[in-house]
Amino acid sequence: MVEGEVPGQARDGMEMSMAAHSHTLPAVADIWAWLDQIPDPEVPAISLVDLGIIRDIAWAGDVLQVTVTPTYSGCPATAIISLDIEATLRAHGIAALEIRRRLSPPWTTEWLSRAGRAKLAQFGIAPPRPAGGPERCPHCGGTDLERISRFGSTPCKAQWRCRDCAEPFDYFKCI
Ligand SMILES: [Zn+2]
Repeated sequence: MVEGEVPGQARDGMEMSMAAHSHTLPAVADIWAWLDQIPDPEVPAISLVDLGIIRDIAWAGDVLQVTVTPTYSGCPATAIISLDIEATLRAHGIAALEIRRRLSPPWTTEWLSRAGRAKLAQFGIAPPRPAGGPERCPHCGGTDLERISRFGSTPCKAQWRCRDCAEPFDYFKCI
């Protein structure tokens, strides 16, 4: 997905293409901050950066390379995520962009940021666990849980209920 080549620009390697630009390229730290503003389509309470799926941001000459590891390969949100990244970066004036998908190593819940975990809890969504079920009720902390439905409000979530407080909740099973 390389687009937006500058017309007439010779691609003779990094030094030539850097010299061809009068403006400075945005700092990678700024780009991380922009992507941290994009909500996860499945769980809008947290950003793509909180989710831990943005693995790398780097300039290769004047082409920005963003490496993304989807939460799981069949996740229908993956295409939306790529479009959101592209739209956001274009809005910030980045013309040449390459979104790379990296499937190995696979995404793990350990890549969720601390802020991401806190926000999931705040919005009543139990964070994913490798064991395959929620650990505690996000409402009362109870551990007597039952699954109501394989699918919750989106395909990446399942619906569970807590027998302690009788509240249903979404479990984020995108692993
Ligand atoms: Zn509960």
